[in-house]
Amino acid sequence: MTRQILSYQNFTVDPFQDFSPTDDTKGAFTILRWAYDLYGDSIVYACSFGAESMVLIDLLSKVKSNAKIVFLDTGLHFQETYDLIDEVKNRYPDLRMHLKQPDLTVDEQAAKYGSALWKRKPDQCCFIRKIKPLEEVLDNVPAWISGLRREQSLSRSKTDFVNKDERFKSIKVCPLIHWTWDDVWNYILQRELPYNELHDNNFPSIGCIPCTSQVTESDDLRAGRWTGQTKTECGLHTNNDDRNLR
Ligand code: SF4
Repeated sequence: MTRQILSYQNFTVDPFQDFSPTDDTKGAFTILRWAYDLYGDSIVYACSFGAESMVLIDLLSKVKSNAKIVFLDTGLHFQETYDLIDEVKNRYPDLRMHLKQPDLTVDEQAAKYGSALWKRKPDQCCFIRKIKPLEEVLDNVPAWISGLRREQSLSRSKTDFVNKDERFKSIKVCPLIHWTWDDVWNYILQRELPYNELHDNNFPSIGCIPCTSQVTESDDLRAGRWTGQTKTECGLHTNNDDRNLR
């Protein structure tokens, strides 16, 4: 792989699409090293503090001990998630962690758009509390890291290690695309990494309180997100037209 700066404008193909994972991180280490070699300090990891995040934070800390991490702090997360963030800060003190908040507090949003916007217009709520804040974080950032895995859903099954991100006009690097849910948990347990204790209570995917529920054994891993609604993604990884949400 030659050192070639990839920009959103000239991106044509994932340089690793034919990469055959041979190491025990299924290519994740190679991709992270490549990304930090190429983009240096400008790359940002947008972290949800889900199970995959624990793996990525641990791998990242070995590649770039003071990596920039941003958490989209909607103001609607579980206390267990904030407790985990504190635990991670203690375990990896060099990481530069930023909790990015939306322009509007939850109360200000309710005053402007009505209460419980997530029930009536969840796309608009996600736009205000997640998408716009990430847009601000990624302004002029050439590349960002995400913990997407192909196994997670049909819409993620074609994710590559390196992706052109039309939505944020950036390059999206996804080191864990080949990891299975079992791989994630084996890594967490073998290394005794911290994780959100809600995972032990049938919450495989954890987001905001109003849009996250427990699942049963037979449900898929994302069944607990926006249960009862047609929405399945917050919009960070889709190219939906959100002009009408602004
Ligand atoms: Fe709003 Fe739910 Fe999206 Fe959180 S996940 S920003 S509460 S719609």
